[in-house]
Amino acid sequence: MEILDGKKISSDIKDEIAVEVAQLKAKGEKVPHLAAVIVGNDGASKTYVGAKVKACNFVGFESTLIEFPEDTTEAELLAKIEELNTNDVIDGYIVQLPLPKHIDEHKVLLAVDATKDVDGFHPVNVGRMALELPTFLPATPYGIMELLERYNVPTLGKNVVVIGRSHIVGRPMSILMSQRRAAGDATVTVAHSKTENLKELTLNADIIVVALGVAEFLKGDMIKEGVTIIDVGITRIEDASKKRGFRLAGDVDYESVAPKSSFITPVPGGVGPMTIAMLLKNTLLARSRHMENEK
Ligand code: NAD
Repeated sequence: MEILDGKKISSDIKDEIAVEVAQLKAKGEKVPHLAAVIVGNDGASKTYVGAKVKACNFVGFESTLIEFPEDTTEAELLAKIEELNTNDVIDGYIVQLPLPKHIDEHKVLLAVDATKDVDGFHPVNVGRMALELPTFLPATPYGIMELLERYNVPTLGKNVVVIGRSHIVGRPMSILMSQRRAAGDATVTVAHSKTENLKELTLNADIIVVALGVAEFLKGDMIKEGVTIIDVGITRIEDASKKRGFRLAGDVDYESVAPKSSFITPVPGGVGPMTIAMLLKNTLLARSRHMENEK
């Protein structure tokens, strides 16, 4: 069993990006600038956004964190988005999800300028991804593809089961792995909450991407020997023995699954750090595209 070490690979990627930023600086070019918008006080969201800003600082990007209170109106948020769209200093930005219930998430994502949509959530970028055109790939699936590629996990012709069909993880993951690309060329099945024969599917899978958000859902008796496991889930479980009062659990029952697998991502230290690294990669891409347009 080999660990797919997202912490290490993401650190390698950040080092690679830092080198590129240093080269930009040396040439007197503008460095990439990422903005992150967060609405409300969700603890996990705040942690994620904080980690993204920290990563920007590490690689030498400029960053701006825009924090709105929970009762911010949709109109106020849309006004900020318009401002970010027209501000030439900002190369890319993200609106941290989930948004409070009174704000229409789709309306907000549609308002983001597709050339600054480094999360890859805008319909234009989702469409470009589906058509295999150059675009910003959504960071979590992009990170998983990168991990599979850097560890040379065989995917060509393999049976992949993706558990979960969300727009940000499961769906794009299934599209990317079925495409003719590195870490692609697989035969992909998408399972979801209405799937009736999940165990039958997972027992037949060579690779399982687990992204449903149910702690320790995938058990050892649901998989075959030698499977590759990508655990996307992050759930906070109350744990009084921890200083912060909780521990993080993945969607995979690591104890029973790891011994049977050939490759597996841990939680934490697997997919999570890769997501941040790929967001930085997208921001670097946004800067280089803007630079092309400025010529
Ligand atoms: P989501 O809630 O939007 O979607 C969950 C999906 O799981 C749905 O499509 C649903 O049909 C499916 N599902 C639910 N119960 C099921 C069942 N019993 N059997 C089969 N399918 C079932 O979730 P999401 O936004 O894709 O996130 C999934 C998990 O991944 C969460 O724990 C989230 O915190 C985590 N996540 C991690 C990262 C990261 O960077 N590591 C990024 C995004 C999300």
